[in-house]
Amino acid sequence: MTAAQVKKPQDSSLPSSFNDDIQKQKYNNKKRDQAEEAWWVNGAFVIIVHIISLLSLLTYTADRKTWIMSYLICQFAMFGITVGYHRLWSHRAYEAKLPLRIVLCLLGTLGFQGSIKWWVLRHRLHHRWTDTEHDPYSAAKGFWFSHMGWIFKKPHYPRMRLIDSSDLNADPVVRFQHKYYVPLALSCGLAAPTLIGWLWGDALGGFLYGGIISRAVIWHSTFCINSFAHWAGDQLYSNEVSARGNLFLALMTHGEGYHNFHHEFPKDFRNGYRLFDWDPSKWIIYTLHTLTNQIPKVSRVPENEIRKAMVNMELIKAQEKRQKCDWGIDPSSLPVITLEQYKQKQEQEGKEWILVDDFVLDVSTFKDDHPGGAKILKNYYGKDSTKAFHGGLNDHSKAAITMTAMFRVAKIERIQKTE
Ligand SMILES: [Zn+2]
Ligand SMILES: [Zn+2]
Repeated sequence: MTAAQVKKPQDSSLPSSFNDDIQKQKYNNKKRDQAEEAWWVNGAFVIIVHIISLLSLLTYTADRKTWIMSYLICQFAMFGITVGYHRLWSHRAYEAKLPLRIVLCLLGTLGFQGSIKWWVLRHRLHHRWTDTEHDPYSAAKGFWFSHMGWIFKKPHYPRMRLIDSSDLNADPVVRFQHKYYVPLALSCGLAAPTLIGWLWGDALGGFLYGGIISRAVIWHSTFCINSFAHWAGDQLYSNEVSARGNLFLALMTHGEGYHNFHHEFPKDFRNGYRLFDWDPSKWIIYTLHTLTNQIPKVSRVPENEIRKAMVNMELIKAQEKRQKCDWGIDPSSLPVITLEQYKQKQEQEGKEWILVDDFVLDVSTFKDDHPGGAKILKNYYGKDSTKAFHGGLNDHSKAAITMTAMFRVAKIERIQKTE
């Protein structure tokens, strides 16, 4: 057996049967080529929807009832995505009974964002490998890519096999929707609004506004989570990934804008965990949990864990601020002299030196700014003023103690007296 035959591939994404470098290289080349391949069908569909939306808005005046219907479609579909696709199926942030799962599935199908299974697996990749090449909508590849550029690339996810899909395969609602996704999406997303519009004589408006324009609006609302929420906002809970939180995005996305919290605590049914955070998806889940039997259990991260994450971030930010200040001369870089040398230097060279806490301080530039006056400092030239500094004459403030580091010129070496 040769060395090449026993060599195991290091990349865990490679099939274990690959046992030599040539095979590995071929596999990686193929992977790269596939990754760069444009996904024309998908891209064309998205572009056509946008063009029709724009032309419809410019040229077609829809009935007022059609506008209201389209607005409601957007709302329902977004809740289907946030409450259903995202928090229930992607993160199992709560448990839902079959009737509610069916309703959420239908609402989510309205969003035209692929089947639950398709959506959830990619979202799990996004959380597992955020900002890396394995993140389907990695913010590291730029704002445009994370917003909708990824749609135009043929998907190739070598690490998909590492994502657990057993819960999705076990759910009959997910299986059914995945199998019949295209007819379901076309009938819920396009045929239904057209038919409803027809009821008041505006079938075309129903199709254009309730079918096409609504799809574009819902898409962008969701896309914003992958782009804006990884680009603008605060990082109150973690700075390990690009996820950020902001109120504006929460208003646009039914509460999904607190994305920094969500990335740090994805299993929590809340995205905006604070009482007054704008998170209607959280309120719907909580209301159904409290008032019905459809949500028997919700997941909450213990408050203590959230507080610890926040404190850690405050410490990181404080450390960053600390590093921006000048804290004076590092003691390890100071020359070390004896007490005798300190006294001699002051006497022979007329140095304006005082001694505090075994540090020799050159107060020549400071003496006139000393709040207690220059005279009191001069009295201690060449002497040890430690006791006077710490309460003998004045118990100096923390700020004063910190400030002494700015005037350090030497450190005193104490010679231990031996018996
Ligand atoms: Zn994210
Ligand atoms: Zn998520």
